[in-house]
Amino acid sequence: VTEPLPLVMDASTGVEGGGIYARQVARGNCVLGGGQGFALDNARARPGQNAVVDILRQAVELYPFLEGAQAIRTWSGTEGYLPDRQPVIGHSSTQPGLLHAFGFAGAGFQIGPAVGQALTEIICCGASKTSLDAFSITRFHSISVA
Ligand SMILES: Cc1cc2nc3c(=O)[nH]c(=O)nc-3n(C[C@H](O)[C@H](O)[C@H](O)COP(=O)(O)OP(=O)(O)OC[C@H]3O[C@@H](n4cnc5c(N)ncnc54)[C@H](O)[C@@H]3O)c2cc1C
Repeated sequence: VTEPLPLVMDASTGVEGGGIYARQVARGNCVLGGGQGFALDNARARPGQNAVVDILRQAVELYPFLEGAQAIRTWSGTEGYLPDRQPVIGHSSTQPGLLHAFGFAGAGFQIGPAVGQALTEIICCGASKTSLDAFSITRFHSISVA
């Protein structure tokens, strides 16, 4: 997050596949995202210094108004990935009436609304209009956990 700057953009922007995105809040601070941090333990993470420097370098190329801007804080978080990097969505294979929706990794905000819709259809109508077979927890039944 940069110091407050004159307002330049009112949309969230980013480079698809490019690992950087940015938006400006009403107060003018520019919130930039991308890169990878490092885990302190299973629940906590810190931004990587190289990643922060890299994002700031890329940011100035993409958003010239950021030249000379001060970064005032950074943060990171933990993304939970399953072996195939896809979420588990649908019925538990062991507990009747339990529905799963977890393992969204780095895309939970994006697909959360659609997942909520699908789960609502299961609860209210007995099945979702969109097939959730690919996300079944049973796909891991043959994987042994060390
Ligand atoms: C830095 C960062 C940037 C991200 N950027 C994006 C992005 O731009 N776009 C995007 O789509 N996604 C993004 N994500 C991913 C997104 O945040 C997650 O996919 C999403 O939050 C997952 O939602 P969830 O509800 O499944 O899990 P969570 O948000 O992790 O919620 C799980 C909840 O369960 C609680 N909990 C855990 N264990 C227990 C327990 N035993 N008992 C009771 N409660 C428990 C936790 O406290 C937590 O509140 C980002 C993630 C990070 C870390």
